[in-house]
Amino acid sequence: MMQPKNYYKIEGDTLKRLKVTCAKCGEGVFLAEHEDRRSCGRCGYTEYKK
Ligand SMILES: [Zn+2]
Repeated sequence: MMQPKNYYKIEGDTLKRLKVTCAKCGEGVFLAEHEDRRSCGRCGYTEYKK
């Protein structure tokens, strides 16, 4: 499975994901970043940040 490098960035010693893949749509569909949540523009899936 291909994981392009630019979807990640290193912050200190933590590997941080810049793009989150939609759990429903799968690979290739990313969730849009919002202040308190991430949402999928395709299926409407929403993931709330803790
Ligand atoms: Zn989706």
